[in-house]
Amino acid sequence: MTPVVVVGAGPVGLSAALALRSHGLPVTVLEADPQDRERPGSRALFVHRETLGLLDAMLPGLAAEITAYGRTWHTRRTLHRGREVYARTFPPPSGPPPFTSLRQADTERFLRAACERAGAGFEWGARVTGVCSTESGVRLTGADGREWSASHVVAADGARSAVRRELGIALAGTRGEGFHVVVDVADVPGGELPLERVFHYEHPGAGGRSVMRVPFTGGFQIDLQCRDDDRPEEFGTEEAVRHWLPAIVGDGYGDRILWVSTYRFLRKVAASFTDPHGRVLLAGEAAHLFPPFGARGMNSGIADAAAAAGAIAAGSAEAVARFAEVRRAAGLFNLAAAGTALDHLRPGRMVRVGQRAAAALAPVLPWCGSWLEHAPYGPRHGAPAVAGRRY
Ligand SMILES: Cc1cc2nc3c(=O)[nH]c(=O)nc-3n(C[C@H](O)[C@H](O)[C@H](O)COP(=O)(O)OP(=O)(O)OC[C@H]3O[C@@H](n4cnc5c(N)ncnc54)[C@H](O)[C@@H]3O)c2cc1C
Repeated sequence: MTPVVVVGAGPVGLSAALALRSHGLPVTVLEADPQDRERPGSRALFVHRETLGLLDAMLPGLAAEITAYGRTWHTRRTLHRGREVYARTFPPPSGPPPFTSLRQADTERFLRAACERAGAGFEWGARVTGVCSTESGVRLTGADGREWSASHVVAADGARSAVRRELGIALAGTRGEGFHVVVDVADVPGGELPLERVFHYEHPGAGGRSVMRVPFTGGFQIDLQCRDDDRPEEFGTEEAVRHWLPAIVGDGYGDRILWVSTYRFLRKVAASFTDPHGRVLLAGEAAHLFPPFGARGMNSGIADAAAAAGAIAAGSAEAVARFAEVRRAAGLFNLAAAGTALDHLRPGRMVRVGQRAAAALAPVLPWCGSWLEHAPYGPRHGAPAVAGRRY
């Protein structure tokens, strides 16, 4: 049987490979990086309950493995200029947790081991540069001249997808103004911060910039929302972080910094999630880019991967067309929802006035605090499958 080829061994490509194996299809993953690579960056932490459900359907027991390693917290807190405007502790759920939080490199470690157990093949150091899709299949060419044939290809080669580019599929959307600095920090053993997610509007210790703190296994992630006229070198170098971090989390973390990244946020969705022959299916960041608030990127990418594998296993052009239509609709929903969140996080004058008024009224009108708590993550209801949620 001609195998299905997955391009890219990020979380989405690994999930696609696992899902294809769960349908009994032979699969080869082509990854540009070497086998012993170290994955850079502070990226996805949250794995949603819906995503855990999808992963467990691909390999029973995988969700339990990931949640046993990840962190779940039950307290969410929002502050405005040093004053608490919302705090809620939820009872632990009787069933599966609503999410688990771990660094993306750890999620990928679990997915890669699961793929290997499930019998997916890997070719490392295989950078795909050429794609030729016909009615009967796909031929891929590598940078080193190697060639691969496949009945179908799942393109999960990330934001700069060579496969998408080769197919001439446009990625339309906008680039947000300004930047955020995202820092992963290891816990101080024995001195762990409370296990809760904290969003702080106009943090006095950060010169009035908003800051979020999210725990993960072994540490926490800080997201500092810089102003449009801030300069990355003032906030986004490790030295700069050592300077501003103590005012946010206290002393003792300067030598616990694991990773510092500066992100500008893109909102883009591919014009089509498949090629005209229905042989190449786009998934994850090859198909869409969202700002991280609401945790939509990896979660919706894994939903793309599950749907792509299901469509390929169904073996009909109609199933692929349906995949492309449904997942693009999900992408457009997430694009709008993440945009709504970002507009709140990088407020214009009127929105900021509204936020300050809500903070002042929160002690007497709890819904004002609730609005401040929920708005940074964008709406989630009405989304077609795994769209993101609020933590
Ligand atoms: C600060 C931040 C926080 C985030 N937080 C969250 C969160 O909490 N929850 C969430 O769901 N998402 C989050 N995201 C988004 C998430 O990190 C991405 O959506 C996710 O990494 C996308 O996975 P992917 O597999 O599509 O692409 P990638 O992770 O980029 O993987 C692509 C893979 O393809 C390989 N590749 C590239 N080109 C080629 C080629 N030509 N040939 C072969 N291989 C190739 C690459 O080497 C890589 O291994 C966050 C992102 C950021 C920036």
